Amino acid sequence: MRLSFSALLLSWLSVASGFTAPQRRARFFTTSATSSALQSSTQENRSNTSSTSRSDFPDYGKTPVEIDKIRVEKTQKWRRKDLFGQSLVEQTLAGMEDSSTKPKPILMSKEERTLRRRALNDLGVKRFSDFLPANFDRKLPTILQLNIGLYCNQACDHCHVESSPLRKQEMMTAETAAQCLDLLMKTPSIETLDITGGAPELNSQFRYLVSMARSMRPDLEIIDRCNLTVLQEPGQEDLIDFLKNHRVRVIASLPCYSSENVNQQRGNGVFERSIAALLALNEAGYGKDEALGLDLVYNPLGAFLPPEQGKLETVYKEQLEENFGILFNSLFTITNMPIKRFADFLHRRDELKDYMDLLVRNFNADTLDTLMCRDLVSVGYDGKLFDCDFNQQLGYGLKDNLSVFDIDSFDLREYKIRTDNHCFGCTAGMGSSCQGTTA
Ligand code: SF4
Ligand code: SF4
Repeated sequence: MRLSFSALLLSWLSVASGFTAPQRRARFFTTSATSSALQSSTQENRSNTSSTSRSDFPDYGKTPVEIDKIRVEKTQKWRRKDLFGQSLVEQTLAGMEDSSTKPKPILMSKEERTLRRRALNDLGVKRFSDFLPANFDRKLPTILQLNIGLYCNQACDHCHVESSPLRKQEMMTAETAAQCLDLLMKTPSIETLDITGGAPELNSQFRYLVSMARSMRPDLEIIDRCNLTVLQEPGQEDLIDFLKNHRVRVIASLPCYSSENVNQQRGNGVFERSIAALLALNEAGYGKDEALGLDLVYNPLGAFLPPEQGKLETVYKEQLEENFGILFNSLFTITNMPIKRFADFLHRRDELKDYMDLLVRNFNADTLDTLMCRDLVSVGYDGKLFDCDFNQQLGYGLKDNLSVFDIDSFDLREYKIRTDNHCFGCTAGMGSSCQGTTA
């Protein structure tokens, strides 16, 4: 009986990867050393088989012995071009209403939220300020982080800004965006413009900010905090080209390499869309070309600290390349902050106190010098100034609620950093910031 190589290969792949044969239907490709041997065996095969059979797998005796040079082409199943132009918003809104699969968010008034915030301090944990050295001051800023709006096509469980498709009001205006650019030009110490949201790309000022900043400061690092699925929203079909043409670094959330975990945290269908988006970014050169950085962000699913960043990055790289053919540069691990939607999540599960204890227990003094707030300026959609995006969401503004219209540059060293007990989220373990660990 003639041995069917393709059947053997496919069944082996199914066992090895957990994929079924149709999902993982593979085609051979090889390095140059083996390609000619496989090519001639393929041509021979073609003349011996009917036109309908798969004739690109070499028969018995034709497989080169240099098996380390043989590669298996990645599955095409995840290249979902059909998703581009299809909005996720309706599905997100349906998910927000579906109380059978998700607990309803706790609706709280401003007063209740203030009480909740104070409750963090009443949990019996130590005060963050007791851990700070006397010289805990602000430095010259190197990062300008603009949160340009809270509208998002997703509504993730852990979202510290509580974004969703319902947040249509909170959007940066053209006047505020122009003022931010003016101040950026007056603050040459700033090396990075970090644009976040919501889904910042869905704000009308996003492209204006990026293109103006790129032309005014060719040396500037510009970051787009991208949720990946935004690339498929109608009207965003040219977004990848726009980002590429302006050398924007993409930092994207992907809290796991398994669909179950990602969909649980970020909504049904988000994993499949995220993988399709990452493949499209790779295709454009992101994660491959030096000038087109693509980084991923991991944050824990529940009340635990992230694993070691370097080790997790290795696992992410193996899993994403092996299963989907995805390449990326770095993985950043971020600790969930006990505020907003994640605080509600902990509260519902009666885990807030235990989580705070965990953060305090793992306080690491080595993280203090590189905390984000030391050299970052955070600006809200309305132009208000903050120490970081977390303080922004808590409404902890700079003295007298300063805004971009009250200052001459982003050098804010005269103003004290406003810390509170949520700050333990930045100092636990190896530290946490928008660019991963800090110690
Ligand atoms: S975590 Fe990001 S993607 Fe999810 S709702 Fe918040 S802003 Fe949107
Ligand atoms: S949460 Fe606190 S420690 Fe962390 S960056 Fe903001 S102000 Fe600094």
